[in-house]
Amino acid sequence: MYQGRKVFAILLAAGSGRRMNMEGKKQFFRIHGRPLFQYSLHCLEESEYVDGIVMVSCEEDLPYMKEILSKDDGKHEKVLGFFPGGKERYHSVYAGLFGLKCFLSGDKDPIVLVHDSARPMLTHEIVEDSIRGAVEHHASVAGVQSKDTVRILDKDGKACDTPARSSVCIIQTPQAFDYSMLSKAYEKLIKEEEEGRLSALVTDDAMVCELYMGVRPFISRGSYRNIKITTAEDLKLLDLWLSESDGS
Ligand code: C5P
Repeated sequence: MYQGRKVFAILLAAGSGRRMNMEGKKQFFRIHGRPLFQYSLHCLEESEYVDGIVMVSCEEDLPYMKEILSKDDGKHEKVLGFFPGGKERYHSVYAGLFGLKCFLSGDKDPIVLVHDSARPMLTHEIVEDSIRGAVEHHASVAGVQSKDTVRILDKDGKACDTPARSSVCIIQTPQAFDYSMLSKAYEKLIKEEEEGRLSALVTDDAMVCELYMGVRPFISRGSYRNIKITTAEDLKLLDLWLSESDGS
């Protein structure tokens, strides 16, 4: 609960992890004794503001995910349910939003926070900032300023525009929203897709919100460690950071 609003999280773990080039899916990769998805789950469970969490995973992995959670030490009282994801990330978010519906009572419009389980270095500060951003601005996405110069390429792959570094932001998750707005935005997106009218390339929730509801998100504070584990190199970094925090 944050300023009288309930807060629910959707934790996404239905990706195929193809880019990882390793056996098994990255969300289940064990590092420092835990599968990857459990790091951000733990942070959300420990957050004083998060009231409930819905887990989204590939249908065939749901029993495995439930088994992992039933065998570890945690009680996972905040985990409300497990839902099968879809082909694209946005299908998985829609599944989470749909799943969440049956756990909502008639309270004030809750906040929904969407997080990629592939970002294990989530912190309480990031979660709180994200929620506050949504409460104050209806939509917020975690981000960090680009450390590098970004060039825009033309169709021949040649550099053309150079946006000012201060105006370039690297977008992360969590992304948090008024539940009513995000679910309406996703309904419009899925309807467009069903009718074969989907033209935009949708990569995150803020885009869905902007495209279908015209709401531009506030950028909440992310972190340079809140990376999305995508390659084997990222795993090495994660290993290093976890070693620092557990003193090994
Ligand atoms: O594929 P990528 O690493 O960009 O995915 C970001 C997050 O979205 C991951 O946590 C992944 O498990 C999740 N995802 C999903 N359903 C999909 C694709 C990705 O839940 N169809």
